[in-house]
Amino acid sequence: MDFSDSDELAQFRSGLRKWLRDNVITPEPDEPHAQFLQRWHRVLYAGGWVGLSWPAEYGGRGLSNTYDVVLNEEIGALGAPDAPRIGYMGRAFLQWGTEEQRRRYLPGLLSGDDFWCQGFSEPDAGSDLANLSTRAEPTGSGYRISGQKVWTSYAEYADLAILLARTGEPGGRHKGVSAFVVPMSADGVSVRPIMAATGESEFCEMFFDDVEVPEENRIGAEGDGWPIAMMTVAYERGAADVGYLSKFGAALGELRTLLGDRLHSDAAVRRTVADLEVRYRVLSQHVRRRLTERDLADTVPGPEMSVDKLLMTDVDQALHRAAVDLLGADVLLTPARPGEEPDDRSAWLRRYVYARAASIYGGSEQIQLGIIAQRVLGLPR
Ligand SMILES: Cc1cc2nc3c(=O)[nH]c(=O)nc-3n(C[C@H](O)[C@H](O)[C@H](O)COP(=O)(O)OP(=O)(O)OC[C@H]3O[C@@H](n4cnc5c(N)ncnc54)[C@H](O)[C@@H]3O)c2cc1C
Repeated sequence: MDFSDSDELAQFRSGLRKWLRDNVITPEPDEPHAQFLQRWHRVLYAGGWVGLSWPAEYGGRGLSNTYDVVLNEEIGALGAPDAPRIGYMGRAFLQWGTEEQRRRYLPGLLSGDDFWCQGFSEPDAGSDLANLSTRAEPTGSGYRISGQKVWTSYAEYADLAILLARTGEPGGRHKGVSAFVVPMSADGVSVRPIMAATGESEFCEMFFDDVEVPEENRIGAEGDGWPIAMMTVAYERGAADVGYLSKFGAALGELRTLLGDRLHSDAAVRRTVADLEVRYRVLSQHVRRRLTERDLADTVPGPEMSVDKLLMTDVDQALHRAAVDLLGADVLLTPARPGEEPDDRSAWLRRYVYARAASIYGGSEQIQLGIIAQRVLGLPR
């Protein structure tokens, strides 16, 4: 497989590089990180750089998936704020949504005007998501939703949630799960932020107390919630789909800058950074191959994305572990990069702690290994 840029891709890359240099933004004083990223998302969208691989009729550009890799690479190379994480949020609409839902929800998702959160996990349903107990009772014209979600990233800022709830029998496992769009402003929705070890409250508890939604807010048919969830998490495990490839590229560049002369004078430092570069490039090439295959076969991602999730976690944790080891006490003095809120802890230390969560969110490392064993390699349970 040839991984070099085609002429069109090379032209796209150089146009993007120039645009990024002229348009990168920095956070306002006291601007929360999530809001800064949303503002950056809108700037990128206005420049025509968001939704590259999404259909043009819903606000995208109808390009191949490979363009998303180039977007991530160029943002990373410049050290600009992360590429938007939308890659996984609304894909379900393309396969299961009605035309009306696609036209209603996708343009706002792509432009960054609507901020979405993902209400899947519950206190007793994380790795074992099929144990979820939030209920959606039919009312005749729609559904009444009651239950609790937890660890919902950015729920505090979200306009809309994609929510899994049980419409079938209690205890029905994968069967009888349905997916809904729930406006976060609906009566009966409340959100309680959870303070994490990073010192930030990225994720939240969400409570649904007899929340009424019309039938048109259900995605797909009753009972389609499980395949919708599985497709959504498969996209969530892709480093270009969630923009993390850009984040790692930027962090690596920043680490090299901070190490300065030590990169040349200290053989151990050079070896460690070379190792990180190799891991990053392996991930980047792997993602490019994956997305090229997705383009060629015109498929949606499946269980194979668990391999991507493990590779992504490996780069994230190796990079931040090495940064803390190599920078040592200096990390406490390191200024935040654009898009990071200044804080009394260093940005690197915060990012290191967040990287520990990489082997939990989007499905834990053990769960990914189980999926690879059973659903990719076909080994017995
Ligand atoms: C930063 C962050 C952001 C998140 N954002 C969201 C979000 O936006 N929306 C959302 O819905 N969820 C979100 N989550 C939740 C995440 O999906 C869950 O934390 C994850 O699926 C694990 O579930 P759990 O926390 O209930 O742990 P548990 O399922 O209780 O697992 C505990 C431990 O047991 C292990 N384990 C469990 N079952 C097995 C098994 N069968 N085989 C081997 N080991 C097993 C796990 O690997 C883990 O180490 C987020 C989590 C984090 C950390």
